[in-house]
Amino acid sequence: LSTIKLNTTTTSYPTSHTSAKDKPYLTPTFINNKLLKSDSSEWFDIHDPSTNHVVSKVPQSTAAELESAIAAADEAFELWKQTSIIKRQQIAFKIVELLRKNWDRLAALIVLEQGKTFADAKGDVLRGIQVAEFACGITSELQGVSLEVAQDMETKMIREPIGVIGSICPFNFPAMIPLWTIPLVIVTGNTTVIKPSERAPGAAMIIAEICAEAGCPPGVINLVHGKHQTVNAFLEDPRIKAITFVGGDKAGKYIYERGHALGKRVQSNLGAKNHMVVLPDADKQTFINAVNGAAFGAAGQRCMAISVLVTVGDKPKEWIKDVAKDAAKFRIGSGFDTSSDLGPLISPQALVRAKEIIASAETEGATLLLDGRDQKPEQAALAKGNFLGPTIITNAKPGMRCYDEEIFAPVLTIVNVDTLEEAIKLINSCRYGNGTSIFTKSGAAAQFFTKNIDVGNVGVNVPIPVPLPLFSFSGSRASFMGDLNFYGKAGIMFLTKPKAITSLWSFSTDEILAPSTSMPI
Ligand code: NAD
Repeated sequence: LSTIKLNTTTTSYPTSHTSAKDKPYLTPTFINNKLLKSDSSEWFDIHDPSTNHVVSKVPQSTAAELESAIAAADEAFELWKQTSIIKRQQIAFKIVELLRKNWDRLAALIVLEQGKTFADAKGDVLRGIQVAEFACGITSELQGVSLEVAQDMETKMIREPIGVIGSICPFNFPAMIPLWTIPLVIVTGNTTVIKPSERAPGAAMIIAEICAEAGCPPGVINLVHGKHQTVNAFLEDPRIKAITFVGGDKAGKYIYERGHALGKRVQSNLGAKNHMVVLPDADKQTFINAVNGAAFGAAGQRCMAISVLVTVGDKPKEWIKDVAKDAAKFRIGSGFDTSSDLGPLISPQALVRAKEIIASAETEGATLLLDGRDQKPEQAALAKGNFLGPTIITNAKPGMRCYDEEIFAPVLTIVNVDTLEEAIKLINSCRYGNGTSIFTKSGAAAQFFTKNIDVGNVGVNVPIPVPLPLFSFSGSRASFMGDLNFYGKAGIMFLTKPKAITSLWSFSTDEILAPSTSMPI
């Protein structure tokens, strides 16, 4: 199955399903810089989604393990927040170096547990490395401001760490999303307990080990496992001061509301339904390549995947058959096979749901232009994998399941409108506001679109406009709950609280100020 030569020799985690098939690896927890075997009696299987073989198991961390991880982070915080920023910066540099060294190993584990192609998994890791690189600039990013506000009187505003950060991650970016916060947590002087997705925890485990190797003292980075029980432990524990969440609507809304009610800071990135608009003046083949890559890459399991195409006017409508012609050429297969364009969906349940929504599109009056339900990988060994070929639904409209729901699969739904204004109205009426893009040669049209669209991440001739970590990953309406976004300046603000210090030091005068009960004017 594998046509990839891995640049890795480390074997502490399984990196191929053939070697791990018969003896599932028991994923440990990571507390105080130690990998610890869990005492749990409840274990969840992790499957290779391209075969559904069990490759490893992950525990529901016990109450004692959760307590031990939170206590470790809480104790470490007292010392860690006092370490010099230069030391924390040096650790960030080392983390970047080690992430790059372990790049293939991380990517291979992502392919094994999550299914995306190896090249795409390397991109997943790189986006995380870029956050770590941004964190290296903390000595500039965390500078406060000061001003002499009166004679001999100075006010300075600084930002201080807030304490233990609980991080809850989804399955679709096993490296990037833990890395959206970990490097910034470290350099801002906080500590963390991370809960990776129970479906793909391996990359986060390697990242935790890397942080320890880079010099993080015991307790700064801790990692536990499980489902709701672990999330609830984070929410209810007063030692956890803030929660970062990325995932689906149900969990994200619950975590945001419960966390807030308990006085925590929460940033919650939720679901998406991302529209791409194509205008008649767009370059046809550039647009076709862009929409196909953005809709079907990672089998549509990206929060920024394009899932709706909005064609404006008649000309782009005529291009749709060529979109389908090119999409039909994509090969589905193992992520370890360099000739695969798309891997499988994460689970048999996700596959069944996607197929149900495709079927509903026909019964609700849409048209199936390209049906990927019967597309199978060439290798017999992948017969039981959760594969779905690229699927295109045309003549869709709001109110249909295929338009209203986030499918999270390689399914592109197409809606036709007559004007750019109509396209904007359609997008702004969708409940999600994660990402969108427009393809056009008109600067004026692009400007009108970017000004009037209520979506967090907007692309002009860029299909998946994920901002680099020097900016922040945004989100609007039902795609984000919170005030401060992930990474960039907003991410640093989220992880720190302001302190204003006003000092009066007079050297030359012995004058003693008279007592006053009124405010100085
Ligand atoms: P998910 O919500 O099922 O799981 C995310 C995390 O929440 C996991 O760690 C899981 O264990 C936990 N969880 C799940 N249900 C829970 C519940 N009821 N109570 C408490 N905890 C719960 O999401 P997923 O399937 O892993 O990821 C896919 C989703 O994530 C998609 O909706 C996608 O759009 C979204 N996502 C959003 C962004 C973004 O930045 N907006 C980025 C990546 C993924």
